[in-house]
Amino acid sequence: MASQAPLSYSSYRTYLECPLRWKFLYIDRLPETPRGYFTFGRVVHSVLEELLRPLVTPPTRRLGETELQRTLDEWHPTPGVRADGDLPSLDALLAAYDRAWTGEGYTSPEDEARYRALGRDLLSRYHAQLQAERPHPVAVEEHLEARWDGIPVHGYIDRIDRTSKGGLEVVDYKTSRELSSDDARDSDQLSLYQVLVERNFSEPVERLTLYHLRSLTPLRAPPRSRGALGVLHERLGVVVDGIRAEAYEPTPGRQCARCDFQSRCPEFRSVPVAERERLAVLVDKFATLRSEERRLESELRRTAEELHRAAEELGVHRVPGSQSVAIRRREEAWQYTLDPVRPLLERSGLSGRISNGSPEEVRRLVRDPAVDPELRRKVAETGARRVKWYWELEDDAPES
Ligand code: SF4
Repeated sequence: MASQAPLSYSSYRTYLECPLRWKFLYIDRLPETPRGYFTFGRVVHSVLEELLRPLVTPPTRRLGETELQRTLDEWHPTPGVRADGDLPSLDALLAAYDRAWTGEGYTSPEDEARYRALGRDLLSRYHAQLQAERPHPVAVEEHLEARWDGIPVHGYIDRIDRTSKGGLEVVDYKTSRELSSDDARDSDQLSLYQVLVERNFSEPVERLTLYHLRSLTPLRAPPRSRGALGVLHERLGVVVDGIRAEAYEPTPGRQCARCDFQSRCPEFRSVPVAERERLAVLVDKFATLRSEERRLESELRRTAEELHRAAEELGVHRVPGSQSVAIRRREEAWQYTLDPVRPLLERSGLSGRISNGSPEEVRRLVRDPAVDPELRRKVAETGARRVKWYWELEDDAPES
């Protein structure tokens, strides 16, 4: 059984994309082929950490689970001491960049040179921007851990800034080509970082930001609501349950194109030559039977419809054949959509009666004599009756 190691954002995302790839990476610890764009991102992140560390003033740490996280309204910041360390000069910054540089994973010397020049350019522009406007970081490259309602999570946060209101801004640098405001609003990574910061620091989270380094643009979003965090917590729970159950099914998709483990993956492994002929016969037989099955299903449906039309005209339910008797059966069910039902139940203080939101719960409520008959009638009026006819063959059909 896999131990319940804290879940990072990338571990969570990898499992959602393909559990088998997750197993190769996190259980079998198979190495991946280095890729230039990852190397580039790592180098730029490490240089930015070096650049901003002199400006860091530590935040207020929570004293543990007993100390509640405060909201922005409740938070009264005390004027803190701001670190006024010197930013490294541009030359020192670029020298640090040269020291950190590694050519790992680039597809060609030209590819490496292109990325290297891009890094120099964006770091130089960022350095100039910092002269005009300095952030007030309380942490850079901070590793945070938390137990989020039973789920252990962790993450390395690029930067956490103190805002002018005294709250915290979670900043994640992105070196990717394209980025939009929607990315900041929808990012599960930022949601998870919000939780990590809230569980570790007393100051409230005021903003979540993806920082697009190529354009030096912060893409900001407000902190997530409790409801939105609840949705993420549920998805994390699904991942944790899957890992605990050792469910590692391959899930092919776009991610396969950049997966290093195709040779180990059943989705891509070839049938051994010695077995191909035997298995080809089975596959052909399966294909023939499947097509016959479809043809029979369609013929069965047409025959039942024809019988139904004739039985309707004649007003009969039992139709004898030479080998058996076909009996027409009727099945009736009330179907409910929940949207019109919910407000009715809320007004009567009974919204808890549809806890899982299934139409079956509504049907039970409509039949429940303990519920006010007027309410039951109103709920029943939102439903639609569905009638289904089907045919059975009499078990004790006469011998021919
Ligand atoms: S090749 Fe595709 S399906 Fe197979 S492990 Fe990799 S990502 Fe998963």
